[in-house]
Amino acid sequence: MIQVKGYAAQSATSVLAPFSFQRREVGPTDILIDIEYCGICHSDIHQARNEWGGSLFPMVPGHEIVGKVKQIGNKVRQFKVGDKAGVGCFVDSCRSCPSCKENEEQYCEGHLVTTYNNVEKDGKTPTYGGYSNQIVIDEDYALKISSKLPLETIAPLLCAGITTYSPLRHWNAERGKRVGIVGLGGLGHMGVKLAAAMGAEVTVLSHSPHKEADARRLGAQHFVATQKTAIAEVFANHFDLILDTVSAPHDLNTYLSTVKKDGTMVLLGVPPDSTQLSAFPLILKRRRLAGSLIGGIKETQEMLDFCAEKNIGSDVEVISAQEINTAYERTVKGDVKYRFVIDCKTF
Ligand code: NAP
Ligand code: ZN
Ligand code: ZN
Repeated sequence: MIQVKGYAAQSATSVLAPFSFQRREVGPTDILIDIEYCGICHSDIHQARNEWGGSLFPMVPGHEIVGKVKQIGNKVRQFKVGDKAGVGCFVDSCRSCPSCKENEEQYCEGHLVTTYNNVEKDGKTPTYGGYSNQIVIDEDYALKISSKLPLETIAPLLCAGITTYSPLRHWNAERGKRVGIVGLGGLGHMGVKLAAAMGAEVTVLSHSPHKEADARRLGAQHFVATQKTAIAEVFANHFDLILDTVSAPHDLNTYLSTVKKDGTMVLLGVPPDSTQLSAFPLILKRRRLAGSLIGGIKETQEMLDFCAEKNIGSDVEVISAQEINTAYERTVKGDVKYRFVIDCKTF
């Protein structure tokens, strides 16, 4: 076994603290990655605090992982020692269901083995995430990372990047389309950059009035302070597509009324509590309300290649392991520009 150092939550109410654990030896199709950076996603916080229920402890969160390959199994074909590699939100899946066969493993109908807060396919070995210094993963579930951009700015692409890229592609964000991004956080700021790079006209809808200059710098043409604007009137029937990235409970009906006939609002954020939905905003303009979960390995690689080509990284604040708990508090308050990334050499 490989001895690894990281940070874990021991329970829903404990802060994260140093934790040593073991990873499996490198199998024939595995690679061992020395983790350099891992982003802090709001999903890490929801799960470490058991806000969605069913959390497994101890929990080593982290699914925005980048580093360098240290060792490879004898059957590995896609990576060599020294290559940069990434790991996103899952490390394995059933590989045989229709979704897996369609390269959409995130919707696996069998067992999607998430990077942490889950068990391996043996049904018992816990998975531990990227708040650690090494990870072992089957090469088919690892991503290739370009050397063009600083590695710390790439880490958040593995979740925040793909989670916004996938619905933007699925619902054809492109020139001539009006895209609204609700919530300018980790996901939201990537959504702005990606939608702008795809040619769409981007509007940020934020409950934080001070984020306007950032929204414009990131590529938005318009900024709406939602607490000061009667958006249902000013933006009635306006957007082709809305990505809702908000992590806390909020009123969906108002945002829905800003979508055009036959347009779509996609829920990406997962607030712990459900909200009331009225039928009227949907039926009056044949609008659609949808959801979207991260993206498959093939599309994640496509997104990473797109970002390398367009020079798109995340805006990050790099922190040491000792600062994780403060970073959690600041993320919950919306005080991050726009993703905390842990320097994993500090574990
Ligand atoms: P984040 O960085 O904390 O950003 C969330 C944003 O939501 C904030 O920046 C803020 O934007 C807005 N917000 C927060 N509290 C609010 C409130 N009380 N009222 C209104 N707006 C509020 O979080 P993140 O990492 O981007 O994740 C966002 C959500 O997506 C989380 O629930 C996470 O679990 C989920 N997620 C889903 C997927 C998926 O596959 N679907 C993947 C990753 C994450 P403004 O200040 O601009 O309003
Ligand atoms: Zn995430
Ligand atoms: Zn499957």
